[in-house]
Amino acid sequence: MSSDLCPCTSGKPFASCCGPYLARSSKAKTVKQLMRSRYSAFALGGHGDYLLETWHPGSAGALTAESLSAKTFNWQDLTILDFRHKGDEGMVKFEARYLDHEGKPGLLQEVSRFIRVSGLWLYLDSE
Ligand SMILES: [Zn+2]
Repeated sequence: MSSDLCPCTSGKPFASCCGPYLARSSKAKTVKQLMRSRYSAFALGGHGDYLLETWHPGSAGALTAESLSAKTFNWQDLTILDFRHKGDEGMVKFEARYLDHEGKPGLLQEVSRFIRVSGLWLYLDSE
């Protein structure tokens, strides 16, 4: 991974892609932006506080910033297959490739649901 390019594999520089969201200098205005920034937070590790802040409290359960900061998989790339939002509800369908702790490749395919509370998009849950 280049230090300049965003870990969400948008092809854009980190500083003009997910960087401002993780630094809290900007708020994600779309479900797609939030999805990408959360992927980057997981890929980089150490951003559990951001992940927790963008997680709906009703579904975050016992998750902590510490547990969410741990790098579990070595995330390789993110492909957004579909996304939509209507009113304050949204979804993003994506697939993400990773290497597990033994270096074995894997593919996560998921539909994430998002909800907007007080003007802020939050991750709700996944199907
Ligand atoms: Zn990005």
